[in-house]
Amino acid sequence: MKMDNENYLQLAGIQHFAFCPRQWALIHTEVQWQENVLTYGGQKLHTKVDDPAFSESRGDIIVSRSVPIHSHELRVYGIADMVEFIRDDINGIKLARRRGRWIPRPVEYKHGQSKLASCDRVQLCAQAICLEETFGIALQEGHIFYGRPRRREEVRLIDDLRQETALLVKEMYNYHTSGVTPPAKYRKACERCSLIEVCVPSLSQRQTVSQYLDKML
Ligand code: SF4
Repeated sequence: MKMDNENYLQLAGIQHFAFCPRQWALIHTEVQWQENVLTYGGQKLHTKVDDPAFSESRGDIIVSRSVPIHSHELRVYGIADMVEFIRDDINGIKLARRRGRWIPRPVEYKHGQSKLASCDRVQLCAQAICLEETFGIALQEGHIFYGRPRRREEVRLIDDLRQETALLVKEMYNYHTSGVTPPAKYRKACERCSLIEVCVPSLSQRQTVSQYLDKML
């Protein structure tokens, strides 16, 4: 099936939408962006990971970085930080120019620490769904590498997580189609939000930042 980027949403937006639908709309619909120490740190970490065409073998694991991925089912596209291929000659799939069979495993890099909220896990799950479509295999797990403290977390790709991911993408499409920016709801997490200055959560009755800025200017 041919993919038309115009009609597919960016996979990276899922984590924003899960954190706050308004943040997602400001970044992806209104194209506002503010950098704070958290986003800057995240970019630095990704710079280390994003090395296109990089691929190496570590025994029974092949590591590929900055892998372009997409899903026709979810209608999303993006770049996976890293995909590991674990050798499994019974359950795996064949890879070009490689002996044996391999199971892909997405590995997402995050600057911060592990969270109770599912924003990172739904993004990883969407990546896994992309890989499942591409390679025609059902995946059981993915990993998230957190920078603070540095450690890996295993994420099981259970049905609940898959359903949550699909529902979030569906809601993103609803907002995307309508062009409506969700109103702000102030909460503690707003203090960590890179867009607090342009979002102005205390002015939540305003529909868009553009309207607010128009009035201020
Ligand atoms: S400041 Fe709060 S309401 Fe506004 S985009 Fe950020 S998290 Fe969402």
